[in-house]
Amino acid sequence: MPIKKFIRKIINKKQAMQIKLPIVNKQDYQILVDNIPQNAINTLEKFHRSKYQAYLVGGSVRDLLLRISPKDIDIATDATPEKIYKLFRNCRLIGKRFRLAHLLFNRSIIEVATFRSEGQYQGKHHKKNNHGMIVRDNIYGNIEEDAWRRDFSINSLYYDAVRNNLIDFTGGFADIQKKLLRIIGVPDIRYREDPVRMIRAIRFSAKLEFSIEKMTSQGIHHNKHLITHVSTVRLFDEVIKLFHCGCAEKIYVLLNTYGFFKILFPSTQQVINHHPIQERILLYTFRSTDKRIKANKPVTPAFLFVAILWPVLQSEVNKPDTEQISITKKIDSSIRSIIAKQIETISISKRFIRSIKEIFTLQNRLERRRGKSPLSLLHHPRFRAAYDFLLIRAESGEIEQNIADWWTKFQEADEPTQLEMLDELHK
Ligand code: ATP
Ligand code: MG
Repeated sequence: MPIKKFIRKIINKKQAMQIKLPIVNKQDYQILVDNIPQNAINTLEKFHRSKYQAYLVGGSVRDLLLRISPKDIDIATDATPEKIYKLFRNCRLIGKRFRLAHLLFNRSIIEVATFRSEGQYQGKHHKKNNHGMIVRDNIYGNIEEDAWRRDFSINSLYYDAVRNNLIDFTGGFADIQKKLLRIIGVPDIRYREDPVRMIRAIRFSAKLEFSIEKMTSQGIHHNKHLITHVSTVRLFDEVIKLFHCGCAEKIYVLLNTYGFFKILFPSTQQVINHHPIQERILLYTFRSTDKRIKANKPVTPAFLFVAILWPVLQSEVNKPDTEQISITKKIDSSIRSIIAKQIETISISKRFIRSIKEIFTLQNRLERRRGKSPLSLLHHPRFRAAYDFLLIRAESGEIEQNIADWWTKFQEADEPTQLEMLDELHK
């Protein structure tokens, strides 16, 4: 082992021994063991047998305290990724910015991270860019440092499920009881380091029904413009997490309160300012997404972007023509330019772009119902999504309800009735 690494290891071990763990009084909380997957308990035990520290951490501890069964499990440990890899046969090491271990089980993955510190200095392992944003943070630390570099106090609790020990360095337990979302540290610095923390705040506040602590909230107002510094790929993931968390309607209100919606979707904002029906389409889409998620039905990012970009498409298509082009061509070229503009802020992968385009172009065809085309449209791979969107447009008052009703009846009818319906339509 290189001498530097050896010394660091000794220092870390010494520090770990010196830290007095702030253990929460056991009488003050109750965590139901049944809510913790057995794989997680086994993993903690295995670490302990090899004399490593290991705790459940982050969202899983927060959710356990709130009696919500955690959607994924994160573990934090003082073992390095290489040690974790040696210890577990089901381990894959991932990550460029920071090495993480994934433990693969039949139907789930447990993510294991080595305690990290958010060093005060800049160096080879820890780097911020000119905006104060962290671009590399590769320094291992102890449990206390790991706690302080996390985003919110409620996400910074550690739980040793084997010994039933809850460790709280940042006051997260009290905040959970107060239903309060509080950023750790100085808001301006923490948001500058990683602007995504601002929209994470919105997601947690909506999802958990927590209020946002005053300084945490003011910091968002001051730093919201930094959100555009985040990579477009990461923004796509975060925006999808926002709208697919089961409370999109609430999220939309919060995004507007903090002024994020117009930063993320400037063209949409411009149109809906003057067209309430278009905003209603958005609201109904969010409401329907929330319902689908509660009912465990599938949802797709494509549908979300269709609803968000629809107002822009309408405004483009309705602009007076300077040259003679067919409506289909006009729709096609508008779609292309609208998507090109949007992906300057939020990247959308090719596969979703294809679906978005299809759902857009199907709207016109569903409305027109030319000749026998409705029969083949029923078999279009994007028919279902396009029909669902048509229903929302009708419900919002953008198109006649009888067009949506016609399609509802048409797809459920037998063939002779379908032919009759087509005859009737073209009389
Ligand atoms: P969810 O229920 O959405 O999974 P979560 O809190 O578990 O919520 P993750 O994205 O899974 O969120 O992250 C796990 C933990 O990592 C968080 O609880 C937090 O402690 C830490 N974390 C995640 N993102 C950040 C960030 N941008 N800055 C600081 N800490 C973060
Ligand atoms: Mg999580």
